[in-house]
Amino acid sequence: MNAPLDVLWLQSGGCGGCSMSLLCADTPDFPALLADAGLRLLWHPSLSRASGDEVTALLDEIANGRRPLDVLVVEGALLRGPNGSGRFHLLAGTGVPMISWVRRLAAQARHVVAVGSCAAWGGVTAGGANPTEACGLQYEDELAGGLLGAGFRAAGGLPVVNIAGCPTHPGWVLETLMALADGSLAAADLDALQRPRFYADQLVHHGCTRNEYYEFKASAERPSDLGCMMEHLGCKGTQAHADCNTRLWNGEGSCTRGGYACISCTEPGFQEPGHAFDSTPKLAGIPIGLPTDMPKAWFVALSSLAKSATPRRVKQNAVADHVVVPPAIRRTRK
Ligand code: SF4
Ligand code: SF4
Repeated sequence: MNAPLDVLWLQSGGCGGCSMSLLCADTPDFPALLADAGLRLLWHPSLSRASGDEVTALLDEIANGRRPLDVLVVEGALLRGPNGSGRFHLLAGTGVPMISWVRRLAAQARHVVAVGSCAAWGGVTAGGANPTEACGLQYEDELAGGLLGAGFRAAGGLPVVNIAGCPTHPGWVLETLMALADGSLAAADLDALQRPRFYADQLVHHGCTRNEYYEFKASAERPSDLGCMMEHLGCKGTQAHADCNTRLWNGEGSCTRGGYACISCTEPGFQEPGHAFDSTPKLAGIPIGLPTDMPKAWFVALSSLAKSATPRRVKQNAVADHVVVPPAIRRTRK
């Protein structure tokens, strides 16, 4: 059996929600799951007992090349302010900006992984006027660059692996780390934004329980309605890359199943869509954000056809919070 993969997890400018999400991994024994997967958590700010000098000594050893590091994981955006000094976030007890630590540790690590949309793109932390000059490890929203620069490649040859999401699904994190542990994550397994394709080659729309309503453009008007949330309530599930409705959260949920529109939290810049998260901007009655890969003319033609063909059941249930018209019973054999 291979030696375990040593993982160092740092938290920077974020809410810690990605770590909280990780703890919802589908297992009764989280440490055993990591051990079975060949992962050794060298240090995590919330999950490890070590603190103070012990941690500083560990980071020093790695940064100075005296101890090898397999994976540097960063959760949260990198705070470059004020004026590029990084002094908005000093690593406690060291007086040194976190961005300096991250640069030095990334230079030593075999793999560098951004956990969450903050670490990948800047995310919520970079919203508004971005007074902290927050950015991601290798991106600033959709622009390549970020803290480490577009050309950065870790010693193992991969760019920063962006496990985007706000928060990330625990399965996305664990599967990525497991793939790194067994050497099966190659550049071809990342999409154009360096997200692992095993979840980013899917759309949130896939497996949504509201798909029948989508087909007929039978739309919800209030958050509690059963209908599709694309037309009025801001749902971007047809554009957001993630498998949230096929790899459920906590084994059974997703945003759309809970009655919330998908806000495309795995995409760069999601934090500032330019409109309220729960409303759909339209031009001449047509949603501006059309489904991925669908030409506008086809969308318009199919929508009007679908609306004219909507069954009464689907139309009425779409604007109700429970099924008011059950499906007709049909003989299903000849
Ligand atoms: S990506 Fe979202 S959940 Fe994760 S740290 Fe940032 S704000 Fe929190
Ligand atoms: S609610 Fe969103 S994800 Fe679900 S079917 Fe409608 S557009 Fe697709």
